[in-house]
Amino acid sequence: MSKRVLVTGGAGFLGSHLAERLLGEGHEILCVDNFYTGRKANIANLIDNPNFELMRHDVTFPLYVEVDEIYNLACPASPIHYQRDPVQTTKTSVMGAINILGLAKRLRVPVLQASTSEVYGDPEVHPQPERYWGHVNPIGARSCYDEGKRAAETLFFDYHRQHNMSIKVMRIFNTYGPRMNADDGRVVSNFIVQALRGEPLTIYGDGSQTRSFCYVDDLIDGMVRLMDAPPSFTGPVNIGNPAEFTMLELAEKVLSLTQSNSTIRFENLPSDDPRQRQPDITLAKTSLNWDPQVQLEDGLSRTIQYFHELSGK
Ligand code: NAD
Ligand code: UDP
Ligand code: UDP
Repeated sequence: MSKRVLVTGGAGFLGSHLAERLLGEGHEILCVDNFYTGRKANIANLIDNPNFELMRHDVTFPLYVEVDEIYNLACPASPIHYQRDPVQTTKTSVMGAINILGLAKRLRVPVLQASTSEVYGDPEVHPQPERYWGHVNPIGARSCYDEGKRAAETLFFDYHRQHNMSIKVMRIFNTYGPRMNADDGRVVSNFIVQALRGEPLTIYGDGSQTRSFCYVDDLIDGMVRLMDAPPSFTGPVNIGNPAEFTMLELAEKVLSLTQSNSTIRFENLPSDDPRQRQPDITLAKTSLNWDPQVQLEDGLSRTIQYFHELSGK
């Protein structure tokens, strides 16, 4: 059955991959984006598809459309982007959630929220299971994002309890792949672009902090499985690849895969930078039958290929 699916943030990194996947399954896509961090280049291959429709709109304002299903991804995701206008970041998460939930309530349709591992803050429990409540600074530089996303989760569960709505909350861990923004400061894109240009790879702090990186195709597969799960399964559910690496290890892998002569330069660690992060994905495995398939080397090679082709354009 073909559905009409709303993807907010559909011109972003993850949203454009989701739109592509759903179009491929025969669904119609309404992409809503204000192009705060999204780019037309991300959806250039979709724009001529008769099943794809683009609407420029800011989700902090009400949205009246008719759809069968909603994925709410609108929100800047990288620290330099979400800290550029922190008030707008909180508004996007909180007012955006209220408007999208109001829309889903009127239409009586399922709605999925792209939440984040940042709800765990700088975690004191490792790896992080969904039952962990987190360790978040409410007034720091990252708070507009972390607390905005936490408030959005609260709204999703209150609309669910108060209005008996079908919700899905997905806690996304660091994801990488083609169409990452080359200058959004995230570690994978930074290292690859630096290595390809022969510039030093910038490691913040001593590089011993860890992250667990999920390839975008695996992430999108988990997202669609969550939406398609029975209404009784609301999450929150962690989706990420549990293979954990230090930033030093990541830099070495990128250097070896690009065969670059770049050196490594150590820079100051940003404030509130989490020391370690690794998803416990037991729930996703048992409830969604989901397990990431793409190993870091393979995913990095595909991403390097993308940035290599981009630099030639
Ligand atoms: P992205 O910045 O590439 O995409 C976000 C999209 O939302 C952009 O197209 C942007 O223009 C749009 N947007 C921002 N504010 C908006 C507003 N007020 N109204 C309408 N559109 C707006 O980021 P991404 O990596 O694709 O992230 C997508 C979602 O996934 C975000 O909600 C993010 O918080 C979440 N997430 C991503 C990661 C990751 O590693 N990429 C990790 C955790 C959570
Ligand atoms: N809303 C929207 N589209 C709709 C329905 C509602 O954008 O189709 C917005 C509207 O701005 C409203 C918000 O969602 O303020 C929350 O809706 P809800 O029905 O929960 O609250 P109320 O309308 O009672 O404020
Ligand atoms: N980082 C780094 N060099 C860079 C960019 C980031 O060492 O050029 C570090 C950053 O301090 C953090 C980790 O890499 O410890 C992941 O950063 P990113 O912004 O990609 O994601 P997040 O901090 O949101 O998990």
